[in-house]
Amino acid sequence: MKLKFCGAAKEVTGSCYVLEVGDTKMLVDCWMYQGPKELVRLNYEPFLFDPKEIDFMLLTHAHIDHCGLIPKLHNGWFTGKIYTTSATKDLTEILLEDSANIQKKNTEDENRRRSREHLPLRKPLFTDLEAAACMPLFQVVEYGVLIKINDAISVRYQDAGHILGSASIEVRATEGEKQTKIVFSWDIGQRDVPIIKDPTLIAEADYLLMESTYGDKVHEDTGTKEDLLLKYVTETYQKWGKLMIPTFAVERTQELLYFIDKLVNSNQFPQEKIFLDSPLAIKATEIFKKHKECYDAEALKEFSHPLDDEYLQYSLSVEDSMKLNTYTDPCVIMAGNGMCTAGRITHHLRHGLSDKKNTLLFVGYQAEGTLGRYILEWEKKVRLMGLEIDVNCDIYKINSFSGHADSNQLMRWAKGFPTSPKTVFIVHGEPKAQSALENNLQTIGFATHIPSLGEVVEL
Ligand SMILES: [Zn+2]
Ligand SMILES: [Zn+2]
Repeated sequence: MKLKFCGAAKEVTGSCYVLEVGDTKMLVDCWMYQGPKELVRLNYEPFLFDPKEIDFMLLTHAHIDHCGLIPKLHNGWFTGKIYTTSATKDLTEILLEDSANIQKKNTEDENRRRSREHLPLRKPLFTDLEAAACMPLFQVVEYGVLIKINDAISVRYQDAGHILGSASIEVRATEGEKQTKIVFSWDIGQRDVPIIKDPTLIAEADYLLMESTYGDKVHEDTGTKEDLLLKYVTETYQKWGKLMIPTFAVERTQELLYFIDKLVNSNQFPQEKIFLDSPLAIKATEIFKKHKECYDAEALKEFSHPLDDEYLQYSLSVEDSMKLNTYTDPCVIMAGNGMCTAGRITHHLRHGLSDKKNTLLFVGYQAEGTLGRYILEWEKKVRLMGLEIDVNCDIYKINSFSGHADSNQLMRWAKGFPTSPKTVFIVHGEPKAQSALENNLQTIGFATHIPSLGEVVEL
């Protein structure tokens, strides 16, 4: 039995692993690198395996760095099934379509430069039609049910509490007389996040692959998410300004809507309009409404008409979005993308950053090199759409809005295993976070290994 690390080894993005059991070759997730240019370039390199030889794929969740190269896999003649939850299938469909549209635009920009410099033109990684052509390969699975895929392999999806539909996957593999259980933790969420269920603790594994995104950090805040949100909304309302929130379309937007819904229902929210200015987030919210099987008990009980309130206004068209520039009453504007690198939020920042009355509230991780990170690090001037803009508005961040478990919560999840697996492979993290998690795991007697890209281990 062999396991090959084909991505997210000493990196956060690009998850991709090949497990070989007898004659069967299966893939867990199908990467896309995001972030710095050197990393993104790898998306254009050949796979570290032959797509034709892969029998089937297991998909943990819909984030694009886990599923983004499925169309490239399909174009490389992979024709097997892709097993995943129903919610992940629906979210993957809209996220792949969105990724194809972003690539189309980026490739057009890049090719304008290339043709000026007489360089060969680029093709996008895939088109929207190629993304749509992958959807018939999807085979929906339910949480908690053991599924026999063939005589050698059975799998069970457990809730990972990260985003709607996300899963940790237990793989039971038989090779000759040998039976081995391998657990893929995948992105582990925080406990007590609204709407979705908490991560499931898994009690045994021969081998564990574990994410380490926040292996070295604790999500700390001065109050609860709900209290802080109310504080910043009220403050902005008193200044008669706009509260601009760069949001991630999936999960963060719906989590914010959930809190806003609670605050409105308890009459704590000022009489402000709330604009959801992101077609992708609007589509994702529709998918959230459909998949009540993923809701936790509280959401099912108290949230009978979730994400559907009259104070909330959807801005689907560009014209609707532009109208917000001249809107003079206090309001909340949630717009993508979450790190301010592109999308409608950039227009709101262009018009709103220099005005003291406004507030910019970050509710997610801001990667190095992004506009969000520059602003957060108190740059007083930023370049946006070719203009120099003064940053005069108030800037805040709520750290506990995170889709990921922090170092304490990762350890809590790991302690669900009463004894150490033979090896815990630490993946999906930057080197500093990986070694911090490794130290913590070794303290409780777990055997660990940090694999390199392309490394193959015999299980
Ligand atoms: Zn994720
Ligand atoms: Zn991830």
